[in-house]
Amino acid sequence: MSIAENLVQIKAGLAADVQLVAVSKTKPNSAIQEAYEAGQRVFGENRIQEMSDKAEALPKDIEWHMIGHVQDNKIKYMAPFVSMVHGMDKEKRIKTLNKEASKVDRRIDCLVQIHIAEEDSKFGFDYDEAKALFSKDLESLYPNVRICGLMGMATFTDNEDQVRKEFRGLSQFFHQLKQELFEKDYFKVLSMGMSGDYKIAMEEGSTMVRIGSSIFGARN
Ligand SMILES: *Cc1c(COP(=O)(O)O)cnc(C)c1O
Repeated sequence: MSIAENLVQIKAGLAADVQLVAVSKTKPNSAIQEAYEAGQRVFGENRIQEMSDKAEALPKDIEWHMIGHVQDNKIKYMAPFVSMVHGMDKEKRIKTLNKEASKVDRRIDCLVQIHIAEEDSKFGFDYDEAKALFSKDLESLYPNVRICGLMGMATFTDNEDQVRKEFRGLSQFFHQLKQELFEKDYFKVLSMGMSGDYKIAMEEGSTMVRIGSSIFGARN
């Protein structure tokens, strides 16, 4: 099937309030252009350099989401244009994003990454660390970022029960934060779910799915 056909099929299966981030990392501009012509406007990349090159070459109304791990010293390159940064895995990173956003006079949307997987290779705060973070006065500390929600990646496994349990835990934590520690109207994004597990993620309350290979085909 073509990229456009894949998009139609995936979007038909998404709940109305779930946003699709088309993950175009490693894929050529022509593939992104095809998805764009099929109506997709939100794309996810995991390398700042690659995202910047693509943003330069492609239509200006694309919203670029940085979904990968970022290094502090590279944040300045995306600060002028990025729409949302998913992987805020350390407070130091939020501080850097705030500093770079202020230099370009923006308030940048971001998500705090929570470590929910079994593997220790995945970045992010654990639940206790995140509670400590959200207990701070984040708006005063970091006025140039807007923490819009949480992001998490489940364990890479065929065990659906485990994936579901991890997503459910993240979803419950998200609602708990929203009720008890961070009652902001803009705190409403729960980014969870990829090609292999987004249906489970949606059932567990995801509001944003990050889908790559099911749209663009397998990556090398
Ligand atoms: C690559 C990537 C995705 C998309 O993965 P697919 O399995 O191709 O859908 C989603 N989220 C993150 C953080 C990624 O790095």
